[in-house]
Amino acid sequence: MEVLNRKVICQSCGMPMKKEEDFGTEKDEESSEEYCCFCCRRGEFTDKGITLNEKIEKLVKISVEQLGMTEKQARTLAETQLPTLKRWKE
Ligand SMILES: [Zn+2]
Repeated sequence: MEVLNRKVICQSCGMPMKKEEDFGTEKDEESSEEYCCFCCRRGEFTDKGITLNEKIEKLVKISVEQLGMTEKQARTLAETQLPTLKRWKE
């Protein structure tokens, strides 16, 4: 990792990862450096095949229900952040 105090966010959903448990796992059970525990388990995406738009919808729902954001806030954040993440860039 180039900068130590760099904010580490999941490269699939944008969730900030702070604790060891927040990170997903690789095939060999090592913790993933790029994806969170909700997106990646044992080197596979838990929601493999999902499109960027579907992921945005899913995330908006979670942010509203669990983080108490307004739908507008959540949507703006997801639409701004997700397309910049590694998983969705190609
Ligand atoms: Zn994630």
